[in-house]
Amino acid sequence: MVKETGYYDTLGVKPDATADEIKKAYRKLALKYHPDKNPNEGEKFKLISQAYEVLSDPKKRDLYDQGGEQAIKEGGLGGGNFSSPMDIFDMFFGGGGHMNREKRGKNVVHQLAVSLEDMYKGSSRKLALQKNVICDKCEGRGGKKGAVEKCAICKGRGIQIHVQQIGPGMVQQVQTMCSECRGEGERINPKDRCKQCNGNKVVREKKILEVHIEKGMKDGQKIVYHGEGDQEPGLEPGDVVIVLDQRDHEVYQRQDNNLIMKMEILLVEALCGFKRTIETVDGRTLLITSLPGEVLKHGNLKCIQNEGMPLQRDPFEKGLLIVQFSVTFPENHWLPVNKLPLLEALLPPREEIMVTDDMEVVELVELDPREQSRVFREPHQGERARGGVQCQTS
Ligand SMILES: [Zn+2]
Ligand SMILES: [Zn+2]
Repeated sequence: MVKETGYYDTLGVKPDATADEIKKAYRKLALKYHPDKNPNEGEKFKLISQAYEVLSDPKKRDLYDQGGEQAIKEGGLGGGNFSSPMDIFDMFFGGGGHMNREKRGKNVVHQLAVSLEDMYKGSSRKLALQKNVICDKCEGRGGKKGAVEKCAICKGRGIQIHVQQIGPGMVQQVQTMCSECRGEGERINPKDRCKQCNGNKVVREKKILEVHIEKGMKDGQKIVYHGEGDQEPGLEPGDVVIVLDQRDHEVYQRQDNNLIMKMEILLVEALCGFKRTIETVDGRTLLITSLPGEVLKHGNLKCIQNEGMPLQRDPFEKGLLIVQFSVTFPENHWLPVNKLPLLEALLPPREEIMVTDDMEVVELVELDPREQSRVFREPHQGERARGGVQCQTS
């Protein structure tokens, strides 16, 4: 049991979420509430970032699970100081490893919803983006050649320094943005302003990006377009980063390169064998047959080799298609009670118990469903690292 669930609630995940689920939740929310897209949700963006910072670090997560937010604030692990939400975001979505970030414009991150089919077969999508490009009429000067003057008030520094007396013999220097040039350090005579960009030096342009989704690409994978971010005079443009967001599939769940599907079979199939068909992601039909005499148990896992997701580096190679069987048992009284001995004669023998006088006879009744969900709440500690299903490949 965790002490409190606030951070989990912020990310919209359960307290037993895997590291991947937490990453995915952060990815979606951070993109949605990033100030570029949602300027009024700065507080929400910060909370999402803090929750992720704690829950993505196993030590901090354990501390939080045991002691709640209080324990994080008291900071046994230096957890009291949160990183800036922008740093967390940049670290998560960082484009290419460029040096001297100050000389570069910022990266722009977009999420692209992609179906499992597209990731299986590969596809190509056109994405229309708006971006700032340097005005070609004034070549990014904002006006005619020579029309740009250094601001006379701040002498081109963009800031003004005021000296304030704050007490007897005590003065304080205060820096403010230059009000004359609004921090630009330069001014353009209104009549000399470039007509095309209105002195802004950049214009908004529509840009079509062609996104190639290669076979086997994964949820959360980034496709980086170097230098396709907003242009700004004197800065190297940042990158456009496209993050793939794999939509859920009706039948298949993906786990890395493996695909997992659930199949319900009847008791007669579990005991006496079956033939079933499976439709693959790309629409082919596979026929599977149980081995003669084989008993399939509830929860059994079987796999088909080379029918999972294609590997991106080698698309002819595929992962596993894993089938998880669940057995549907017949309803109460499906067989007249007098026929039960016939069935029993065929089934493996049961173990008889000795009834003695000192035993107490009690009644077995149905468990209240509300009580059931309390009893079977998913285990938490230690269970988190569950790497998912395994499948023998012999
Ligand atoms: Zn100025
Ligand atoms: Zn211009």
